Amino acid sequence: MRRTLSELTKMSQGEWVGSIDNGTMVTGVSTDTRTLKPGQLYVPLSGEQFDGHDFLAQAVANGAVASLWERSRPLPETTIPLIQVDDPLQTLQRLASAYRQQLDVTVVAVTGSNGKTTTKDLLGSVLETRYRVHRTRGNLNNHIGVPLTLLSMAEETEVAVVEMGMNHAGEIALLSQIARPDIAVVTNVGDAHLEFLGSRAGIADAKLEIREGLSEDGILVYDGDEPLLQARLRQEQHLRLVSIGFDEGNAVQIQALKLHGDEGIRFQSSSSDYHFHLSLPGRHNAMNGMMAITVGKLLNLSDAEIQRGLEQAKVSGMRLERLVASNGMAIINDAYNASPRAMKAAIDLLVALPNQRKKWVLLADMLELGAEEEVYHRQIGAYAVEKGVDKIFTMGQRGRWIAAGAAAVATETRVIHCETAAEVAATLLQEGDASVTLLVKASRGARLEAVVQQLVEGE
Ligand code: ATP
Ligand code: MG
Repeated sequence: MRRTLSELTKMSQGEWVGSIDNGTMVTGVSTDTRTLKPGQLYVPLSGEQFDGHDFLAQAVANGAVASLWERSRPLPETTIPLIQVDDPLQTLQRLASAYRQQLDVTVVAVTGSNGKTTTKDLLGSVLETRYRVHRTRGNLNNHIGVPLTLLSMAEETEVAVVEMGMNHAGEIALLSQIARPDIAVVTNVGDAHLEFLGSRAGIADAKLEIREGLSEDGILVYDGDEPLLQARLRQEQHLRLVSIGFDEGNAVQIQALKLHGDEGIRFQSSSSDYHFHLSLPGRHNAMNGMMAITVGKLLNLSDAEIQRGLEQAKVSGMRLERLVASNGMAIINDAYNASPRAMKAAIDLLVALPNQRKKWVLLADMLELGAEEEVYHRQIGAYAVEKGVDKIFTMGQRGRWIAAGAAAVATETRVIHCETAAEVAATLLQEGDASVTLLVKASRGARLEAVVQQLVEGE
């Protein structure tokens, strides 16, 4: 971005304090003095632990050419111009929305309970075969990350792929109003964050808030296998709807899915004979892939271009990492996050692996599930047994419920619960060998990565 300081002041609707405008150029926006680059505007945000206003001197030292400043605070001594505003966070959001409106860019927003980052990265890669694309870096998908994503678009960006996350009602509406998407993707309705949203119906409503900022002739691409979305969209009159799923009756139906374990998947869409290949494993990735393919087609890409994009896709960090334990056991590390839906998808993937190895799981706590959390954990235990997992290890306070749910239906499957990371690692190292594949999955807060590290390093 390149805007003069006075243009930026206008966009921020703030008041400028300091020396007269000499045409100073602002080349970007930063909220973090550790990564701020010379030429940027500093936006001091106040969090629970830090107050960005305390770091103004550091921002100046790193080359900030101006800074926002909360009006209620005394003005500091500084060498750079300040823009006084009521609330720097709101101003950040306002700047992002103004900048987005100034560019001639098509914005694609991606929300949903699971698969946002995967879909965003697949889609980004697909669209890059034809367009100048900007996309959310990593997982910067909240009320700060979305504005920063928009503000870091190059002026010539043709398509922006923006991930939007949430854990409370109202958050997606805000993000959508800031980003004003032309196309919105709702990957699915899961069961994450039930604690704050009450029910799956509440989650569906929250995801569909994406409509609030969608342009008049906007397109909504969504999981058509989800009855909660179908029910809510039945009355929808203003948007163009594209439903995607495995079920008949979807506008785009996923067909001929073949799972090739680690090699990934093959599938086709009901609307063409083309066979797509994706190097990500599991049925759920066919859904993520088809979302990306469909948006690619809406933006006029050919099947061959789309396939090339899928091949080049690099999906951001720490999902389904393949490792080998010191005792030879193969590990599928998916300890990055978990909800019941994501756990089931991971178990499906494990049992569908086309090899003769024994299939074991290490599962632990899923967080933020609210009042019904015990039921959800028990269901996962039972699910693992039904799917034919050979041995189930659990850990942690809630992991105990997974073990109980498994034990209640298990006949042959062995269920082993351990209290501590050290205990579970020692047991797995002792019992496992090269004939085993172990899936490791829980919420990040369960810290299973410590177990994985012990398994890999041995004792
Ligand atoms: P976050 O809320 O952390 O941003 P996300 O929605 O971006 O998550 P991804 O990072 O793409 O999701 O995937 C996280 C995990 O969710 C994956 O490791 C996988 O286990 C599971 N997952 C991905 N896609 C789907 C899907 N379509 N359905 C169910 N589970 C999925
Ligand atoms: Mg994500």
